[in-house]
Amino acid sequence: MKPSESLNITIVGTGYVGLTTALALAYLGHRLQCVDKNPEIVNKLERGISTIYEAGLEELLEDTRGQINFNGNLKDCLHQDTDLVIIAVGTPSKENGDTDLCFVEEVARDIGKNLLPERPLVVVNKSTVPVGTARRVETVIKEELERRQVEATISVVSNPEFLREGSALHDTFYPDRMVVGSEDVWSVNLMRQMYAPILSQDFTPPRAVPRPEGIGLPALVTTTPTSAELLKYTANAFLAAKISFINEIAGLAEKVGADIQEVARGVGLDKRIGSAFLNAGVGWGGSCFPKDTRSLLYTAQQYGYELPLTSAAVEVNYRQRMKIIEKLQHTLKVIRGSTVGILGLSFKPNTDDIRESPAIDVIRELLEMGARVKAFDPVAMDKYQRTFPDQDVIYAASVEATAQNSDALVLMTDWEEFMHVPWKELVLTMRRPVFIDGRNLLQPENMRKWGYDYVGIGRAADVGVGLRTKA
Ligand code: NAD
Repeated sequence: MKPSESLNITIVGTGYVGLTTALALAYLGHRLQCVDKNPEIVNKLERGISTIYEAGLEELLEDTRGQINFNGNLKDCLHQDTDLVIIAVGTPSKENGDTDLCFVEEVARDIGKNLLPERPLVVVNKSTVPVGTARRVETVIKEELERRQVEATISVVSNPEFLREGSALHDTFYPDRMVVGSEDVWSVNLMRQMYAPILSQDFTPPRAVPRPEGIGLPALVTTTPTSAELLKYTANAFLAAKISFINEIAGLAEKVGADIQEVARGVGLDKRIGSAFLNAGVGWGGSCFPKDTRSLLYTAQQYGYELPLTSAAVEVNYRQRMKIIEKLQHTLKVIRGSTVGILGLSFKPNTDDIRESPAIDVIRELLEMGARVKAFDPVAMDKYQRTFPDQDVIYAASVEATAQNSDALVLMTDWEEFMHVPWKELVLTMRRPVFIDGRNLLQPENMRKWGYDYVGIGRAADVGVGLRTKA
């Protein structure tokens, strides 16, 4: 990018979204100031150490040195010459399902307290926020400006983020579309300028994030802020419902003796449906789908409107987690006193994020039922242990150590490395060879041939699996 076209950008919040966005924009030639209130995160990033597990992040940290400052201070950024402030802080659920906007509002208040009158500012809401938040952010900023009797031009843009953890950088450099919800032409133009290299795909790909062959140019979808806000929740609720739908049918497949993998393949080849998000398993988790479906339901409730499909998606998802327990009861019969090995703690592979991971509910239930729980995850074990320090879980150093003397193994996350484990040998080290494949990752025929009581999700041959102990 030509220096004249590069912008001064401040990002507030350097978590999964903020850090990924900052690194990508810095790589594309903009000058980045990052602000995070967690000093541990700032300290590590300054030393070039990634604070989250995401492929390519460490290389990009190295490649963008000099273009990005992680120890930014919002006041200084506003007093210098920032063109845009991107808000990428967390928006967790409240108890009642509403979205807690306290972090977003805190940033808005800080902007209002420190903005100078000379320069117009575009404030970008990248956090996932309910309808009306762009307006709320504008109101909070203006209240503070009025208090200080300062007149300044601001435009609040809704720019929801669609990256997937596990492929965050890839999704940022090569998105399907970008959504910009704004009432002003000048802010849309500035957003266009910020994303220009991504929209035209004319940048040299970073060494860690190669451009996939044959991708098209992403669409820039411009909308009102309210449409952009609703659009993000709609996308997440739709994807969550798609997974819940195939999981619901997986339950029926088990009853009628069909195989959900065959059903999903035949259904997904229909272009109107598509094959993505049709993998039956233990269901969805993570930092987005659970809180975003709750938030959407809360918004509808505020308007006295029902969303039965979204409600059902949530209900089916919880039921799916409990199916793991049912399958263990069916195979092991007695859970109390059994040793159950959990393989995978993160909510999906290639990330260390355990927020609302299905493994949490399954482990909690097993402990309550009196099982001894061992667990292994390639990257998320530290995070799990720090989040649940009081849970009586035995952390194993490997899949092999998890299997040793266990009565059952439950595969909760489809990490690729679980496909390359010497399962044939491991069965001999287990006390009982029960294997619940919560992601349908492994080949049932092989697992059974090697002596496992293998049970997947919605697989024809699972019906009537009997109890078989090791000889
Ligand atoms: P995160 O919890 O990983 O990061 C948020 C960061 O903001 C933290 O580092 C926190 O210290 C910092 N922060 C909070 N308040 C602050 C303040 N006032 N000043 C400075 N820093 C502050 O969150 P995340 O996963 O990156 O998600 C951020 C937003 O993006 C959420 O609204 C989320 O729903 C949305 N989103 C997330 C994903 C995802 O896959 N994680 C995808 C799309 C959208």
